[in-house]
Amino acid sequence: MPEPSAEEGAVLVDGVAVGLCGTDVEIVAAQYGQAPPGSDLLVLGHENLGRVAQAPPDSGFAAGDLVVGFVRRPDPVPCPPCGVGEWDMCRNGQYTEHGIKGLHGFARERWRAAPDALVKLEPELASVGVLLEPTTIVAKAWEQVERIGRRAFWQPRVAVVTGAGPVGLLAALLGVQRGMEVHVYDRVTDGPKPQLVADLGATYHHESLPDSKVLADVIIECTGVPSVVVDVLTHSATDSITCLTGVSTVGAVLPLDIGGLNRNAVLANDVVFGTVNANRRHYEAGIAALAAADKGWLERLITRRVPLAEYASGFQRGPHDVKVVLEI
Ligand SMILES: [Zn+2]
Ligand SMILES: [Zn+2]
Repeated sequence: MPEPSAEEGAVLVDGVAVGLCGTDVEIVAAQYGQAPPGSDLLVLGHENLGRVAQAPPDSGFAAGDLVVGFVRRPDPVPCPPCGVGEWDMCRNGQYTEHGIKGLHGFARERWRAAPDALVKLEPELASVGVLLEPTTIVAKAWEQVERIGRRAFWQPRVAVVTGAGPVGLLAALLGVQRGMEVHVYDRVTDGPKPQLVADLGATYHHESLPDSKVLADVIIECTGVPSVVVDVLTHSATDSITCLTGVSTVGAVLPLDIGGLNRNAVLANDVVFGTVNANRRHYEAGIAALAAADKGWLERLITRRVPLAEYASGFQRGPHDVKVVLEI
């Protein structure tokens, strides 16, 4: 890649690391993703960490600062949510996303960003700062759950997280940080996930949510697996709030008693909502959550660090991988 052009922003950043996730795998498989206009390739990498190489004196950044670039940028119109900085709620779909939609990603030795498209991290987060972007996803999920909870008296006690991948484990972390009794569900019985959950002080389940008989006040669904989605839609406490974060493949048809689902949702004041992406507020909440977490625990989420030259092996998922990171 050529040196990033000045048009990309006033702050020049040395790439440190990018985290890989299912979105990258889908882009590699050409199921998703869009190159920048006029380019026949898309640089991957949305979960990012960098170090400022050069910044204008009035930018709020200085050489050496650890930074994370916002993945999504507001649409050019802009729509009303983008106009107030809530690009995660963009209404017209014309937003762009680094490494995903219309903008090169962060898996580059050097990239540039505008000062208002970056957040600064304390040096203590150097080894785990690449986890910030997935943390912003769950910081938004929890923020939205709490905003919805304020519709009436609400004293949530039990939280369920489905899926013990990076997003699920980080969702569980934020639930524990809120003082909740957290239950995490995943299929695997070995590898690092059960112990990571136990070390949070949460409970790991490899049986299904219905089999466990747990009824949660808050559910964060992180798998997108249709049968698991049915489980969370049909097994929750009264006045519960269920947040869907997993993007499913389309086309699975499962039998579902819609009348029963509707009846239970109405009679129990249930809320089900979806969430995607994150804005500055959620990056700041994510930084606070990482800073308050046990750093050794966060480091254990990164089960493999792959040098850039060996990038291809980063896309081969090992059975015990949680988060794989490309080191730039
Ligand atoms: Zn990702
Ligand atoms: Zn917009």
